[in-house]
Amino acid sequence: MNQSEISLEDIRAARERIAAHIVPLRITPSASLSQQFDKDILLAHEYLQTTGAFKLRGAMNSVLQLEPGTTGVTAVSTGNHGRALAWSARQAGVPCIICMSQLVPQNKLEGIRALGAETRIVGKSQDEAEVEARRLVEEDGYTMIPPFEHPHVIAGQGTLGLEMLEQVPDLDTVLVQLSGGGLISGIALAIKSQKPDVRIIGISMERGCAMYASQQAGYPVEVEELPTLADSLGGGIGLDNRLTFGIVRDQVDQLVLLSEEEIADGIRHAYFEEQVIVEGGGAVGIGALLARKVEPGEKTIVLLSGRNIDMELHRKIVNHEDYQR
Ligand SMILES: *Cc1c(COP(=O)(O)O)cnc(C)c1O
Repeated sequence: MNQSEISLEDIRAARERIAAHIVPLRITPSASLSQQFDKDILLAHEYLQTTGAFKLRGAMNSVLQLEPGTTGVTAVSTGNHGRALAWSARQAGVPCIICMSQLVPQNKLEGIRALGAETRIVGKSQDEAEVEARRLVEEDGYTMIPPFEHPHVIAGQGTLGLEMLEQVPDLDTVLVQLSGGGLISGIALAIKSQKPDVRIIGISMERGCAMYASQQAGYPVEVEELPTLADSLGGGIGLDNRLTFGIVRDQVDQLVLLSEEEIADGIRHAYFEEQVIVEGGGAVGIGALLARKVEPGEKTIVLLSGRNIDMELHRKIVNHEDYQR
């Protein structure tokens, strides 16, 4: 499998497939950022998606292409991917079991259940939950839907790139958050296959970005997972990564890492200047501009990818209270 297996046609087909289940991307100018940088800076409000993050696109595109005879879908995630898969499966009438460890916070568990998935709580670590998910695949005929490393997921996330280019045909720079790289891979393939000169800039946190470390090394590596405000950007890229590592290497123009305070600045700017609530991972594009770590183009889109933040944490951040956990 390699990146040439995801074509512009695949992304266009994904868009048609998921259209009925997706909130169209809303893009608005940011008066305050445009004024501050003297350039056109636009915000892409993808946190408006039903489950509060873009991951619905990839999950929905996967659920709608299951092999016949599949019992249902499963994943090990109580974050934005788990939420997306739960809701997609319910929409498509497909059984869904989200596996998790006993350590999962009650509110996340209830969030997944409210979106219509069955939950299975196994063991005291992510690894033990993963064993159960694999058992569901091997013994019960479930299909595991991964959060980023799959052509259907990448094509689904890529539909964002199509919408950006359609609404802003003369865009020249896009700021995209980066973790496993499914989001930025899809967007980069969708945009660069039509306009190769558009700059695609990936943004993540200094505390534990596996994709950045892997690109530096030249092959996929593991990094220590650290607590961060951008918790939805945590996690590895898989030592056997065969898709997103290469797409990021070949298609992404620049990678930028932010400190915790720079992420907090992004959250605060979104709240006070744009009147928008975003999670840490969603705010890194704004944070990178404010920190002057990215030079905006003449027409720059800043993606706001999700809003699923604990509101007590959000309150502390915007009030400049101590938010360390
Ligand atoms: C998952 C996620 C990302 C990163 O997406 P990848 O495909 O893993 O790079 C960014 N923002 C939010 C809100 C997310 O949930």
